[in-house]
Amino acid sequence: MIDFLQALVLAYPLTFFLMSVLLLLTYLLVGQAKYLIQLGVSFCSISVGVTLQIIHVPSQDALNGTLSGLFFLVFSYSLAQGIVLLEGKTLDPILSCSIFIIAFIARCISSLMPHIDEYYFISVFSVYTALVIFLSNALWKVKHLILGDALEKMWYIVISIWLGSLIIRLGYVSYSPDMLRMLLWKTGKISYSFEEFSVLQHLFYTMALLFSILTILVAIKRLIFDISRKTRLDGLTGAYNRIGLQYLIEFELPKTKTMGLIMLDIDFFKSVNTRYGHPVGDAVIKEVVLLINRNLASVNPHTVRLGGEEFLIILPHLTMQRLPELAENLRCFIEKHDFIHIADGLSITVSMGIGEYESTLAFKDIYKEIDQKLASAKKSGRNQVVESI
Ligand code: GH3
Ligand code: MG
Ligand code: MG
Repeated sequence: MIDFLQALVLAYPLTFFLMSVLLLLTYLLVGQAKYLIQLGVSFCSISVGVTLQIIHVPSQDALNGTLSGLFFLVFSYSLAQGIVLLEGKTLDPILSCSIFIIAFIARCISSLMPHIDEYYFISVFSVYTALVIFLSNALWKVKHLILGDALEKMWYIVISIWLGSLIIRLGYVSYSPDMLRMLLWKTGKISYSFEEFSVLQHLFYTMALLFSILTILVAIKRLIFDISRKTRLDGLTGAYNRIGLQYLIEFELPKTKTMGLIMLDIDFFKSVNTRYGHPVGDAVIKEVVLLINRNLASVNPHTVRLGGEEFLIILPHLTMQRLPELAENLRCFIEKHDFIHIADGLSITVSMGIGEYESTLAFKDIYKEIDQKLASAKKSGRNQVVESI
């Protein structure tokens, strides 16, 4: 049994190391996702930290304690930062630095002190408290994942249980500081007190491995989502493109019963290109998308660039009660906007067709009708909103 447990202890750092290699190589191959680096650094650090604990040399106690503490803190910070980066957020840098520095100073001082229980207690307590604070902070920032899909829910529950076990462990360590010494290499052998120690220690690492595997799955899922999201966006404006429109029709529109639609086209745009050149035309298209998204921000628009300077704006749940007023506001907003920073004497107007539609209707029918409304706005003089043909 002892042999098996010794072998198992060695398996932890090795597995963490291999997971770190997997994440860092994925980053090298795919790039762009910083959370892969952060999680890779985190797993690599715990791997080194645990190895330092296992190969503990009694004459190098202070160095070992300081270094393993440092790697354990890097693990804690990188794990928490990696988790929040997955959701496009970051940890507060001042708070993180303060926790890191305080915990590291406490660890250094206690490692240099004589071997008495009080100092040993501070050495353990400092890094575990830092881990609990980092992790709680990260989990709080991504709390919405508990309502996510099955994988995200499972990940959140496992990591919360692990955090809970850390808090219990912290309590236990405070009660019995000697307990953690069991992992250290004593008299040339890894020494265990099986009854007292193994359940808690092995549970800790097994849970850590389980949540690490789930974290990798969540990270890979996020990576696939991020990459596929890029294919759905128009390179010039960041609005949805035609692939994005198809995605909205399949996955977003079924979530809403009715929606408000605006089909918008810039007036006399060919003459902008002719007069100022295509680069200025490009800048105008970009600016118009910014103006649309800024003006309609309160009603969560999905802006689709259908092609050229023609856009379809989908406003989930919005009815004809508010739509005509919103569209008229947008038209005025663009008309009054100063494009002078793009080109001298440039002013822009837009024409729109608008309507409220059931999301269950065939999209090609909706498209046909709203396109006729836009054509009607163009025919009757441009720079206006048309709501019925
Ligand atoms: P109307 O008021 O009837 O809409 O007149 P218009 O001149 O705006 O006509 P239309 O909407 O058909 O013009 C589309 C023009 O947009 C044609 C093309 O030269 C230009 N265009 C399409 N895509 C781009 C682009 O990505 N960049 C630039 N600069 N111009 C584009
Ligand atoms: Mg046009
Ligand atoms: Mg057009």
